[in-house]
Amino acid sequence: MSKKVLIIGTGLGALSTALRLSRRGYQIEMVDKYHKPGGRLNLLEKDGFKWDLAPTFFSMSYEFDELMKDAGMKKPFSFIELDPLYAVHFEGDQKKYLIYKNLDKLEAEFEKLEPGFKRRMEKFLDKTGKIFHDTENIIIKKNFNSLVHYLLSMSKVPWKHAPGMVTNMWDELGKHFSSFEVKVIFSLVGFFLGSTPFDTPAVFTLLTYTELKHDGYYNVEGGMYKIVEGLVNELKARGVTFHFNVEITDYYTEHAVLKGFIDQHGNKWEADRFVVNADAAAFRGKMFSREKYTEEKLDNLHWTMAPLTIYLGVKGKLDSLYHHNYFLRRNFKEYASRIFKNSIGLDKPYYYLNIPSVHNADYAPEGHESLFILCPVPDLRYKSNWDDAEQIADGIITDLSQRIDFDIHSSIVSKTVLSPIQWEKMFNLYKGSGLGLAHDLNQVGYFRPSNQDEVFPNLFYVGASTTPGTGLPMVVISSKLVTERILKYDGVIS
Ligand SMILES: Cc1cc2nc3c(=O)[nH]c(=O)nc-3n(C[C@H](O)[C@H](O)[C@H](O)COP(=O)(O)OP(=O)(O)OC[C@H]3O[C@@H](n4cnc5c(N)ncnc54)[C@H](O)[C@@H]3O)c2cc1C
Repeated sequence: MSKKVLIIGTGLGALSTALRLSRRGYQIEMVDKYHKPGGRLNLLEKDGFKWDLAPTFFSMSYEFDELMKDAGMKKPFSFIELDPLYAVHFEGDQKKYLIYKNLDKLEAEFEKLEPGFKRRMEKFLDKTGKIFHDTENIIIKKNFNSLVHYLLSMSKVPWKHAPGMVTNMWDELGKHFSSFEVKVIFSLVGFFLGSTPFDTPAVFTLLTYTELKHDGYYNVEGGMYKIVEGLVNELKARGVTFHFNVEITDYYTEHAVLKGFIDQHGNKWEADRFVVNADAAAFRGKMFSREKYTEEKLDNLHWTMAPLTIYLGVKGKLDSLYHHNYFLRRNFKEYASRIFKNSIGLDKPYYYLNIPSVHNADYAPEGHESLFILCPVPDLRYKSNWDDAEQIADGIITDLSQRIDFDIHSSIVSKTVLSPIQWEKMFNLYKGSGLGLAHDLNQVGYFRPSNQDEVFPNLFYVGASTTPGTGLPMVVISSKLVTERILKYDGVIS
């Protein structure tokens, strides 16, 4: 008889795991505390507008192709490659910088600021490309069974990359570029990992290689949620069952073996194997009261930024803007080093603006635009009171109006603001951390919470806070790694 798997959560990690396992004959049931599937990869619909709730793009698109192949299905959505990838606005600068994959076009953007830009960028991409290809299969796409196993794998990474483990992204960029703007722009990837370029190891400059050369940035025809709809339809066709508004709050064992979980209403959910898509560190602490994951110890881990998100429907078209737009200032180092610890005011924030209606007209009624603003803010450890969320949001809207010369306030038809408090509640994100655990060297590879439980061997984890890390492609890789673990545990592969 096929083994039954209960998956707790329906984020991208969970859906991808369900597809891989269902292909191999496992019988799957999924529960989620949220009212619809997708986790953070979700859709907000209101007042005739739509917004991607959180992820608005992804890189390493080929990981989705790998998933389709492994799951034995056709891709139920189509990629839209972004060109330019994004636009960057600095305060007080009339010019906006457009980031292209084409290095000649990119050089034209920076020729006045950075003499010899193309040559410098080629050298930078050559180095970061080597880091990527030298670590991808050895470190990123691998399960580790012990510290020795991990260290042995690390020893296969060429020594020339070792300095990149101990220096930071900002200093690495300084070796290649002299202009402030160029260094700031190409260190923004540090924020995608949820940290700052001053805290992120230099090896992660490999992300610039994935964005500019190896792959690019993508959106999806019809919007990001088409990914979730496509995967869920396929799973339903395979007989997978879904239950929403079900929050797992307890568990039970028999002779020290994990037998099942219990939801908020006291219902029991029994299975042979369990996959948890909730935060892999926080879940161990909250559910099992594990010594290593007490609140005090969790608080001492390095968590990624919390989001303050604003979803606006406005009357009028904002034709001068792109799919992705960053609005930055000139106190970059001071802001980046202080914002996460709430030691700098949020009255002059940095933020990201996404206009989904650029690629997907049905996200806004005719003559209107939908706008999504993401402002990285301190998590609930450093700022627990968000009564001022609306006020901060209004300040951002005023700032944006001035910078794009369009009175947004008087054009607003729909407005929703989500603070870290709501983000924590919606998806059980630890203290509102948007991307989960950060990627310091002591929080990656073997040191990241494992995808197989330490106490219950029939319990597995998938998603942003287990291996390999956060972001949509990483979470898809995470589903591959956990599937391998389960198949090994069941003796299907050796
Ligand atoms: C504002 C924001 C913007 C982002 N932008 C991007 C982007 O542009 N590109 C990109 O690649 N990544 C982006 N990310 C990161 C990306 O969203 C995540 O890395 C990814 O979606 C995580 O997927 P997951 O499967 O790990 O978990 P999740 O999406 O968090 O899913 C976990 C699910 O588990 C459920 N759950 C938790 N606890 C329980 C419980 N006890 N019982 C039942 N259900 C439970 C939750 O409700 C949730 O649905 C962004 C994240 C945020 C917050």
